[in-house]
Amino acid sequence: MTLAQRTSLNSIPAYRQGATPGAAQKAFKLSSNENPYPPLDSVIAGLSSELGTINQYPNAAAPELVGALAARLGVEPETIALGAGSVEVAGQLIHATANPGDEVVFAWRSFEAYPILAHVAGATPVMVPLDADGAHDLAAMAEAINERTALVFICNPNNPTGTVVDAAAVDAFMAKVPAHVLVVIDEAYVHFNTARDSAIGLDFFRRYPNVAVLHTFSKAYGLAGLRIGYAVAPPAVAANLRKTAVPFGVTALAQRAAVLSLEHEDELQVRIDDLVTARESLLATLREAGVTVTESQANFIWLSTGDDTEAVDAGLRAAGIWARAFAGEGIRISIGSPEANAAIATAVISALQEAP
Ligand code: PMP
Repeated sequence: MTLAQRTSLNSIPAYRQGATPGAAQKAFKLSSNENPYPPLDSVIAGLSSELGTINQYPNAAAPELVGALAARLGVEPETIALGAGSVEVAGQLIHATANPGDEVVFAWRSFEAYPILAHVAGATPVMVPLDADGAHDLAAMAEAINERTALVFICNPNNPTGTVVDAAAVDAFMAKVPAHVLVVIDEAYVHFNTARDSAIGLDFFRRYPNVAVLHTFSKAYGLAGLRIGYAVAPPAVAANLRKTAVPFGVTALAQRAAVLSLEHEDELQVRIDDLVTARESLLATLREAGVTVTESQANFIWLSTGDDTEAVDAGLRAAGIWARAFAGEGIRISIGSPEANAAIATAVISALQEAP
C-alpha cells in the first residue's frame, strides 16, 4: 500500500545545509555564513537563568522582545512578527499572501530557500536572472510582475553574490509595483552593509504601505543555533504572519538571547566591524593577486567560477576551506576567524591557479 502523499513534493528538493568538515579534520566551516565569534558571555549567562523555565511553554507574544525591537527600530509593536529564524518568516510571508498558483518573484541566484518555500506554499516561483555583475535586475523583476504576483523578495545584500541594490533603484522599482503586491526586503546581512547608497529596508517600510522587511539574529548577532528572526510588516500582514506561524515556534531561550543581544549591541558592533574589515582586506588581497571577485556587502565573498566551480571547490577543500559551491556558477565563502581568513586567501589563489 502506498501512503498518501502530496505528489508535488516529489519535484521539490529539500533545503541543502552548508557542508561541515569531519571532527577529525583541520578545516574551516565557511559554508553557512555563520558568525565565527562565540556567543557573548552575557547571553550565555542569561540563557543559564532561563533554563529553569523550560518546563513551560514560551510566551508566544514575546512581549519583552517585541517591545525591545519596536523601541530599537522605531516601529509599532504590532508590525513585528517573530519566527524560528527569518527563513520561517519568509515562508509565512508567502503563506500569508499567496493563493494557490499565485506567483512569487525573486532574483536568481539568490537565497536557496525562496523557490522551495514558494513551492511548499503552493505558489509558483518566478526566478529573474541576476545581471552580469551578480546584482538584482530590478527592471526585469518589475516586468515579471503580473496580476498573479503576490509577493516579491529583494535580497539585500544578496545571498550568495553579496551585491546590494541602490535606494534610488528600489524607488524606481516601487513606482512600477502594483499596490496589491507585497515587496519583502530580506536583510539577513544588513549589518555588514556599508554601501552608502544602498536601500535600507526600514526606510522603505516607512514610505510604502506594501513593503515588509526581514531581519535575523542568526548572522551579525551570532544566534543561528537558537533560530530567531522577524519581519517588520504592515499590521494586517503581521497579523496574518502570526496566524501562519507554528504555535510556540520561538523558544523562550531564543527570545531571551535576542533581548540580551539587543542590550549588548555595542559589543556585537565591534565584532561586526571586525568582520567588515576582514572582508575588505580579503577582497583587496585577492584583487592584488589578480583574482576577479564580486564586491560584497555581506559576511561572505563570491567567486564567479563558472564551469571551474567543482575543481576550484575541490582545491579549497584540500586546503581546509569548506565553502558553498553552486555547480556551474560560483563559490560563496563566509568570512571567518582571522586564521580562517588568512587561509582563504592562500587557498583561493592556489585553487584558481590549479583549476583546468
Ligand atoms: N535570508 C537570507 C538571505 C539568508 O541567507 C538566510 C540564511 N542563510 C536567511 C534569510 C535565513 O536565516 P535564519 O533563518 O537563520 O534567520
